[in-house]
Amino acid sequence: MPSKRDRKEWSKGYYLKNKEKKLKYQKEYSSKHKEKIEEYLKDYRPKRYQMNRIDIDKKNRKREEGYLKEWSTLFPKIAHCEMCGKDLIFNSGENGKSIHFDHCHGGIAPIKHPMKFLRNSKRTPEKEALWKSCRFGILCLKCNICLPTIDRKQFIVNATRYAAEKEKEYGPYAF
Ligand SMILES: [Zn+2]
Repeated sequence: MPSKRDRKEWSKGYYLKNKEKKLKYQKEYSSKHKEKIEEYLKDYRPKRYQMNRIDIDKKNRKREEGYLKEWSTLFPKIAHCEMCGKDLIFNSGENGKSIHFDHCHGGIAPIKHPMKFLRNSKRTPEKEALWKSCRFGILCLKCNICLPTIDRKQFIVNATRYAAEKEKEYGPYAF
């Protein structure tokens, strides 16, 4: 009986000997069944895309988590909402407990989407300087939702006036 190694060598030789023949056959087969193959690929291509998509997403998420970890040391371990004082953690994984960066310049800062920027940028001295130049406020989810970006001072004046009027009307326990 030939050894495993002999058999391996033999199949290698067989493969090389038949390579040309095989390629020729494959070429003939694909031109003969062009439509059938095209039909199969029509179904398979989106599946292949989906399969790869999962891998790409996984890779992207891993990279993003890495970048966020690099940035995390820029913020205090426990930050406080600059409006209500609530304890907040950078990228805590829970929307209600995480820092929400506030577009306090009417949306004209060079970084349009703070978290998107941190997620997609490696922390370099240049990127860090750019981030610091934006001076984003730190808010909790609730305060960030309540506070408009545009004309916020007027909004607060109106809100204060409204609260004062209601208090005058119904007494201090109205709220
Ligand atoms: Zn708050």
